Amino acid sequence: MHDLLIRDCHVLRCEPSETTVLRHHDLVVDRGLISAVSPTGTTRPEDCEEVVEGRGMVAMPGLVDTHAHVPMVIFRGLAEDVSLETWFNEYMWPLESNLREDDVYWGMQLGLAELIEGGVTAVADHYFFMDRAAEAVREAGIRAGLGWAVFGSGGKQGLERSARFAAEWNGQEDGRITTWMAPHAPYTCDDDFLRQTAREADRLGVGIHIHAAETIAQTEASVARHGRTPIQVLEQTGVLDHRCIVAHGCGVTEDDIGILARSGAGVACAPKTYLKLAMGTTPVLALRRAGVPVGLATDGAVSNNTLDVWESMRLMAMVQKDRAGAPESMTLAETLHVATRGSAAVYGAPDKLGHLAPGFAADLILVDIGGAHCQPLHSIPATLVYATRASDVQTVIVAGRVLMRDRRLLTLDKREIVRRVSDAMERLQRRVPDKRIQLYEP
Ligand SMILES: [Zn+2]
Repeated sequence: MHDLLIRDCHVLRCEPSETTVLRHHDLVVDRGLISAVSPTGTTRPEDCEEVVEGRGMVAMPGLVDTHAHVPMVIFRGLAEDVSLETWFNEYMWPLESNLREDDVYWGMQLGLAELIEGGVTAVADHYFFMDRAAEAVREAGIRAGLGWAVFGSGGKQGLERSARFAAEWNGQEDGRITTWMAPHAPYTCDDDFLRQTAREADRLGVGIHIHAAETIAQTEASVARHGRTPIQVLEQTGVLDHRCIVAHGCGVTEDDIGILARSGAGVACAPKTYLKLAMGTTPVLALRRAGVPVGLATDGAVSNNTLDVWESMRLMAMVQKDRAGAPESMTLAETLHVATRGSAAVYGAPDKLGHLAPGFAADLILVDIGGAHCQPLHSIPATLVYATRASDVQTVIVAGRVLMRDRRLLTLDKREIVRRVSDAMERLQRRVPDKRIQLYEP
């Protein structure tokens, strides 16, 4: 008996410059992995414990959100039409000074419900009270790479808490949860702190997830202050000797791209945040040309408002075309490659996620392409990149387990989650002047 059969769907396969669609195929899942991809009818439904009908739908690798602060959904809509500096100093960091661990737990549940409903099967998350976030991940059934964020001002204690969390949760839930060290950024953590973080990552065998070169202004400030770019700081402190997620990189120089390429680090691109906060953008085309993996990200919902990776994909493609002044660049195939295998590589699992082939994790989604906004169906890749909506995702499967079926969440109670978050609304929006967890002065 096989565990699961997904019948008669169109299977999407993404290579760097070519997308193929295997029409009318079945996917067979055993022990959390894809065991076969074959023309419909090859496997008999009666030989499978569970059958999901995929007729008329595209099966594609679940989307991977390579940089998020999921629990920040609780602050959604509270910081609009402000500069990056005001966003941090007058909104984000004062708001977070009121944060309680229960807020993180319910915020994480709310954000995970949104992610699963939008076809995301794995998220690299960077936040506080991560033991509570990890509990929510355990219950939701999604895959997550979690890091307990820490500032240099958190000192030895903060670093130890982050490392303790990483040690305790890495590999939990049959490897569905992995952990990362999560120093905030080179402008909030000094060299010594970053060196100690790198040593901890070494000791624990985990990667490092960090914000760096978020804007060109940050890179210029770093050069003026230390004579080095933020990426050079990461290189010199040993951070880049590890598996590394660099969030944003809108301010990387040409030399920085060379450093990143030699290090094997991946870069997370969250274009909606950049557009709203006028931050520039990740040089996706140049990074990919140099061999640096680039993945899609949402960042937190205080800048992005949603955790919609479809929107990230579409904005990334259009911003890259616009920046290059070349509509023929950032093709459909490249865009879908970033969304699947590129994001899987940034997440640190290029051989496990992002591809529907035997041996890969059964982390996949079924997308309904029958809507009026998708018809007629001349090109499945064009439909997926430019027409599909997150709400077209019908079914979400992680490690062979169905988390959403026909748009119904099976592991999370959305009404209860919304009620819990609403109960805390008044306290969550309180900003005490001059009470903040950090100061933004890159
Ligand atoms: Zn971030």
